[in-house]
Amino acid sequence: MLKRLGRWLRAAGYDTEIADDGLADREVMAQAVAQGRLLLTRDKQMMERRAAQAGAAMLLECNDTDSCARELSRRLGVDWLYRPFSRCMICNTPLVAAPPEQRPQVPPKARTRLEILLACPGCGRLYWEGHHVKRMRKVLESWQKKSG
Ligand SMILES: [Zn+2]
Repeated sequence: MLKRLGRWLRAAGYDTEIADDGLADREVMAQAVAQGRLLLTRDKQMMERRAAQAGAAMLLECNDTDSCARELSRRLGVDWLYRPFSRCMICNTPLVAAPPEQRPQVPPKARTRLEILLACPGCGRLYWEGHHVKRMRKVLESWQKKSG
């Protein structure tokens, strides 16, 4: 579930790593410390690690994405409208303006009302203000409203 929250944090523009499934708790914790990141977890055992107790991790009490979003606003001051859609939700790379030759990759239906086309230099994914992004933007706005 925190994977989904991680993607939403990226959608809001926050530099967010999502732990790989195969990693042991120890490795996840070590990675967070090495990269100077705050580890968000719902795993109480993770909090028993020394680094977690030194402040490198935070235990979330929420149980769905919606309540987690509110908890992050409340406890960390997360601004859900910080820099919406400035990062790739899949790989966390900052997005750049897509070169014109990538425009034909957008479905024709979306292309007619195309304003801004962004590309991820990391994984090649394209982003544009289609229905999907509009829907997500509404969710971000609603989280921000509830927290403010
Ligand atoms: Zn990407």
